[in-house]
Amino acid sequence: MQATSLRFCAVAGDATDPLTARAHNEPRHSYRGPFQRDRDRIIHARAFRRLAGKTQVFTHRYSDHFRNRLTHTIEVTQIARTVAAALELNEDLAETLALAHDIGHPPFGHAGEQALDRQLRARGMRFDHNLHALRIVEHFEQRYVEFRGLNLTLAVREGIVKHSHDYAPADHPELREYFLDRLPPLEAQSIDLADEIAYLTADIDDGIEADILSLDDLCCGVPLFADFYRQVEGKHPEAAGKLLFHEALKGMLNALVNDLIVTTHTNVTGAGIGDLEGVRRASRRLVQLSPAMEQRRREAKEYLFRRLYHAEDLDQSHAMAEETISGLFEHWMKHPEQLPETQQSQLEAEGAPRVVADYIAGMTDNFIADQWRLARR
Ligand code: MG
Repeated sequence: MQATSLRFCAVAGDATDPLTARAHNEPRHSYRGPFQRDRDRIIHARAFRRLAGKTQVFTHRYSDHFRNRLTHTIEVTQIARTVAAALELNEDLAETLALAHDIGHPPFGHAGEQALDRQLRARGMRFDHNLHALRIVEHFEQRYVEFRGLNLTLAVREGIVKHSHDYAPADHPELREYFLDRLPPLEAQSIDLADEIAYLTADIDDGIEADILSLDDLCCGVPLFADFYRQVEGKHPEAAGKLLFHEALKGMLNALVNDLIVTTHTNVTGAGIGDLEGVRRASRRLVQLSPAMEQRRREAKEYLFRRLYHAEDLDQSHAMAEETISGLFEHWMKHPEQLPETQQSQLEAEGAPRVVADYIAGMTDNFIADQWRLARR
């Protein structure tokens, strides 16, 4: 791969950078930079620890070998750091955003998020995990005497809101400080595809381990994987199938990350962009895969939707997620007096649906299962 520095459009992150501003001024730390401090605040947050108890795709009934949201988050972080380092972007910012990228997710993976969103939609509201993550870092985490929340830098809060989605300024006046009329910095843009690369490859791995996917079917449905599998099989005809599988999957992951780095570099330099403001004012997101690799990515994603995410084997988990979340939501809407005191104290200001959704969204899989058992007594 060619040298690919994009340092000229990285977020500076030094003391003079307005993106390091915090809602409450704090003295500078003697040896940690602003984004390093934010990274440490995220890692020490309760919401971050709870990721260990949340489903990524497979609930714990499968086995302890499968990814949960915490191990997924660590994998995304490694990819985001690799990309940021190769492009000479702000590695501390990319790392912090990757660590925070899933803290707004409810229990039970995607099925849990859909169930929660359905409950809120029925009451004229929505559940959005990025906006929920912002509420967590601004309100729900309470660790400091002088302020509520984690008092994160502007760049980190902007990235939490915008890494995977562009919000229309007219629909979200409450987000006005996050430059909604402009694109986020490259560090934030990179998180969306780092996430996608991490889960596509990890879900293939876990899907094979769970015996829901088969190697033959995978080779037919995911050409990018098949290319690497044929290569390693040709090179090591005697090797065990499982090792060939891992080598091929590693090749696939590496090819996606390499392509992301090279294509992003080409997009930025090809558009003549010379600084962060140019990134923000570009006509489209610049962190992308090449058209050929994008096609490969889409094939892999469509395959996983067909064969894994909607597989019959996972139906039981999805139905349990729906029943638990909908059941508890409706239970607490009927009996708000049974909510813990902290949640009850927010009812007047926030309204019952939002308070119940926030409470449920924070739960781990085990905790919500216990709550559902108690509610049905
Ligand atoms: Mg993720």
